[in-house]
Amino acid sequence: MTKTYSAQFRCIAGCTPRFALSDVLYRCPSCGDLLEVEHDMKALSGLDGSAWKRLFAERAGQMRSPYNSGVWRKREWVAPHVRDENVVSLAEGATPLLHAGRYGQEIGVEDLWIKQCGLSHTGSFKDLGMTVLVSTVKQLVADGSKIPAIACASTGDTSAALSAYAAAAGLRSAVILPRGKITTAQLVQPLANGALVLAVDTDFDGCMQLVAELAERDGVYLANSMNSLRLEGQKTVAIEIVEQFGYQVPDWIVIPGGNLGNVSALSAGFAMLSELGLIDKLPRLCLAQAQQANPLYRSYLKNFESFEAITAGDTAASAIRIGNPVSRDKAIRGLRKHQGVVEEASESELAEAAARADRSGFFCCPHTGVALAAVEKLARRGEIGKDQRAVVISTASGLKFSEFKTQYHDGLLPGSESPKLANVPIQLPREYSKVRETVIRFLDAGD
Ligand SMILES: *Cc1c(COP(=O)(O)O)cnc(C)c1O
Ligand SMILES: [Zn+2]
Repeated sequence: MTKTYSAQFRCIAGCTPRFALSDVLYRCPSCGDLLEVEHDMKALSGLDGSAWKRLFAERAGQMRSPYNSGVWRKREWVAPHVRDENVVSLAEGATPLLHAGRYGQEIGVEDLWIKQCGLSHTGSFKDLGMTVLVSTVKQLVADGSKIPAIACASTGDTSAALSAYAAAAGLRSAVILPRGKITTAQLVQPLANGALVLAVDTDFDGCMQLVAELAERDGVYLANSMNSLRLEGQKTVAIEIVEQFGYQVPDWIVIPGGNLGNVSALSAGFAMLSELGLIDKLPRLCLAQAQQANPLYRSYLKNFESFEAITAGDTAASAIRIGNPVSRDKAIRGLRKHQGVVEEASESELAEAAARADRSGFFCCPHTGVALAAVEKLARRGEIGKDQRAVVISTASGLKFSEFKTQYHDGLLPGSESPKLANVPIQLPREYSKVRETVIRFLDAGD
């Protein structure tokens, strides 16, 4: 089956040579621009839209590897080069799409949905891309390539995904992290999986420079999102969303962004869905940034006519604390195709939005908070209409960001020192009357 389909790397600036996906290549050798994966669309269109829908639906019922993975169910569209025996999967993807009914009502978008991409093996959407990248490396090694290790710079979630998938495959991994700028849960994951963990006194952009040099000089395989294999796996989020709506396309998708690979992947997924006849319109996209790390927002205000990298400031949304996003050109191209907008959220806006959604049963990470704050702004301005359907991409599990939650509720979160929805434990002695009195007071208070 995989023989019928094929894919290759091409330069996004349009240089003509194509390269095999087995080439260890992160940028165009002629012009230095990013690469993207180009599929043989003619072969893929050998099945019509409804045949693809049927195939995806059949596989969705299977419980065994690799079709228990939301990524490998779409393997012809994603990674036709990977042979069965090299698939390294931890049953990623196939995540729930939840109706955010009560929260949506409160903010005036009743048809609001949250795509729970953080409900995944390592707790973030990074698993979707890492399964493709690590499977490719496993195949390279099986075919005789000498690859000493896979390495990445990370704001936390990429390193967790890389170390888990590398360990599952029996490959070595090394991760370079900005010291003191990631959460305990994020740090402990690569440690537990046996990665070499370097905590360096710099920010993400500094770590990125270091790892790029290691790849250049010492042949470690680079796992950052400039490696476009990852975007192929992440692309499946677009397909899953429309599948979950019975191939209805929502009006809006709102997604938080840092390095801007994920929004590029989303747009690439919709391009394939549309070209292969599974959908007949595109959603509008909103890319949401933290105000402290908002280079794309600034560029958007100038109609994307120029782009300046910035030094990102402190933000609770630590996974998107990036001042020099590698996929900015892909992201801008994608946003233009989707009548896209860019929004920003202050520390207090992102924390309050996450807390409001939590009150209706969610447990949102700060990045999801950034996207929710953007939805609230678009709704207030009437850009998301009352009858429109909107989907928020939740990028990580809130459980990885428990410090963010406890600081918010304790009134200690920088920028949110007067939290509107604080809730703290009430300390009591073991005395029935005190307990009862407190419960009665709570009930009398109404809500
Ligand atoms: C990586 C990450 C993002 C940002 O994705 P990009 O592709 O870098 O824009 C957002 N949220 C979380 C939780 C992440 O781990
Ligand atoms: Zn080029």
